[in-house]
Amino acid sequence: MELIVKKRFGKYRTALISAVLSVSVSAAMLGGAVTASASTVSQDQSKLQSYQSKLSDNKTQLSKLQSQIDSMKSQKDQQIQLMDAYDQQLALYSSNISTLQDQIDTLQQTVDQESAAIGQDQQNLTDGQAQFADIMRQAQDEGDSNTIMILLGSTSISDLISRMETVGEILAYNQGVMNGISQDQAALQSDIQSNQSSEQDLQDSMSQLQSEQAAMNAKAGEAQTYLDQLNSSLEGEQALYDQEAKDNDSIQSQIAQMTAQIKADQAAAAAASRASSSPPQSAPPPSVNGQLGYPLPASHESISSPFGPRSSPITGAYEIHDGIDLPAPRDTPIYAAADGQVVIAGPYYTYGNCVVILSSGGLSTLYAHQDNGAIRVTVGENVTKGEQIGAVGMTGAATGYHLHFGVSVNGKWVNPVQYFPEIGFSYIDGCSPTTYGYQ
Ligand SMILES: [Zn+2]
Repeated sequence: MELIVKKRFGKYRTALISAVLSVSVSAAMLGGAVTASASTVSQDQSKLQSYQSKLSDNKTQLSKLQSQIDSMKSQKDQQIQLMDAYDQQLALYSSNISTLQDQIDTLQQTVDQESAAIGQDQQNLTDGQAQFADIMRQAQDEGDSNTIMILLGSTSISDLISRMETVGEILAYNQGVMNGISQDQAALQSDIQSNQSSEQDLQDSMSQLQSEQAAMNAKAGEAQTYLDQLNSSLEGEQALYDQEAKDNDSIQSQIAQMTAQIKADQAAAAAASRASSSPPQSAPPPSVNGQLGYPLPASHESISSPFGPRSSPITGAYEIHDGIDLPAPRDTPIYAAADGQVVIAGPYYTYGNCVVILSSGGLSTLYAHQDNGAIRVTVGENVTKGEQIGAVGMTGAATGYHLHFGVSVNGKWVNPVQYFPEIGFSYIDGCSPTTYGYQ
């Protein structure tokens, strides 16, 4: 299991622990045999730092762009909603106009039918007038002789009166027929006028609707133009983002290269140090009286997260893992790795329940994430190598039961593995002893 160190607490914690651990630091412990290589490593480290800062700038820029893109996308959604609303209104206008058009067509048909009827009446009237004219002409042609003859054929005054009535009835009948036709025609004309006026009203309404429709169309057109602009801005923004993301990838690959470079330079420095004829105290580890005692029972000799640089399991940020993680079941006993005095025994930030033992020769050992109530020692107490000081837990920032074991020499964290040359550690969860340097 890996120890999860939150950056904020990590810094605070490291500062505090460093203050504790540098109590017995004496100067001039490390010699200068590896100075040349060490300076290369230090240059690499500073390059790495500059890449890290570039990466952080780049990430800020990326997140800025992302939030701009998000805001544009939300504007775009709003615009599309607006246009949907326009479309709905336009559809309503179309349907209203089409209904109106149907009404106008129906009225037009009625007017047409009435016009046809008037035409027929006109024809009838014309025919009737022609008949009447015929009768009159006939009467004239015959010198009114017929009617006169009718009258002259009277045999008596009463017969004359009767005959005069007959002539009058013929004339009146003809006149009546023509009057009736005229009345029909007048009624139809008035119907037509009323229908035409209704039709005009409908036409006016339609003009009104059509002008509203045109205005709505113009609005929809403007909305479309704006949407097009938004889309094009969004594309531009997306292109910028893609470019930044590409830069991001390239910086990250530079960081990976630089990390590999540092590893190589460190290996070279270590080799140079081994090859040099300088006295042994010039290279780590500095003098410790004998090997350290293993802090767990021998059956727990695997490492789930080695010492050295790693990318934080949470933030992905570059960090130094300042110890080794030794997975073991809950309540597995923890033993003091060396004789010394307890300087921390209790909860300590992300380390959880933690014990730190200060030994001679600038050596300190740290035992983190112990189970609640498991710590068996108190501050100020002297302990001996191999004595049980506590038990495995997962308090503090831990995702599983393990002992985070740290070794500090003169206030600097060193890789604890080097104190157990006789142990062939197995590395689990894909980590390996050569993944990171710092031997
Ligand atoms: Zn750890």
